[in-house]
Amino acid sequence: MAYALLRAASRLFSTLVAASKHGRAGRSAAAASTCARATSSPHNVKLFLEAILRNSAGSPAASALHWRLLRLGIHLYTFGSLSRAARRAAEIGADTLQVFTASPRMWRARPTDPAEVTSLKAIRQEFDIRPLVVHVNYLVNLASNDAAIRAQSIRTLRGEFERAAIIGAEYLVVHPGNAKGRPLDDAMAAIAEGIRDAADDIREVTLLLENTAGCGSSIGSRFAELREIRRAAGTLTAAPIGYCLDTCHLLAAGFDITTPGGLRSMLREADHTLGMEHVRLIHANDSKTPLGSRVDRHAKIGHGHIGAEAFRRLLACRELRQMTFISETPVERDGDDRRNMAKLRSLAPPRNGARRERPRLS
Ligand SMILES: [Zn+2]
Ligand SMILES: [Zn+2]
Repeated sequence: MAYALLRAASRLFSTLVAASKHGRAGRSAAAASTCARATSSPHNVKLFLEAILRNSAGSPAASALHWRLLRLGIHLYTFGSLSRAARRAAEIGADTLQVFTASPRMWRARPTDPAEVTSLKAIRQEFDIRPLVVHVNYLVNLASNDAAIRAQSIRTLRGEFERAAIIGAEYLVVHPGNAKGRPLDDAMAAIAEGIRDAADDIREVTLLLENTAGCGSSIGSRFAELREIRRAAGTLTAAPIGYCLDTCHLLAAGFDITTPGGLRSMLREADHTLGMEHVRLIHANDSKTPLGSRVDRHAKIGHGHIGAEAFRRLLACRELRQMTFISETPVERDGDDRRNMAKLRSLAPPRNGARRERPRLS
């Protein structure tokens, strides 16, 4: 992990140096070379990149760096072949990929095929597809009041962790759970204990708690709930835990991310409550239902209540420029994966440092 970050940092540094020859980032490049020697930990790498971006704001170097740091991808169905999904991701120009490692609506899961895993890793290496994200089965409910369902949920989550580790995924995304009549505190404690039991000795995969739309008694539509689960789990296990924020769920839960002010206040609250350094992934989905609807229905980007302009703002904002964005939008016709990917890409800041007027958040 640290090695991958160092490699990324050194690549980014070369980008900066190359760009500084044409731009006015020479001073910051010199400062950054000092920082480069100190990139011995992921935290230092992050500080290093932040320093570059801060010192060269508005320059072609910063713009190029922003583009290199932003990772865009989509969720792809594997149809039994992880390597085929990775190849498809590369074909449609994705930098990152999310998959299920088993049917998302069945308890049973087949073990991963070692030949598939080897091939998946080779394709990721060749096309620089990272991070690899696995989304947990939808049936898992660590807060269930039904002992049998809760036990099955823990076993299933354990299997998800094991498969994610085997295939080399960096992140495992889970919906926190559904309290269904159980007091909220009790339900959140049950989730934390479930994470402990399932994560066990796994350290190489980071579990990401995803915010929810807040439908019925689903937990996690409020940032304070996500924080509490992460805090409580952190007292029980050393397994790494972060967050995933889904834009459709944010809107449905009442965060008006469609306006510059609304986006700014959501980000401020996320930073204050969750800490943006723990938010590792954004699910970039438009919403078929309006602000505060508490209904989780994904729409294609630009076809829902969030709209293309809001996504353009989101992809350009300073707080999210090192972020991974993955679209989980509907695939209804052949080629929708490619179109969804192209749409997301078209709304991101331009490549090669080309200047374009874009909304500023800060
Ligand atoms: Zn999502
Ligand atoms: Zn959703």
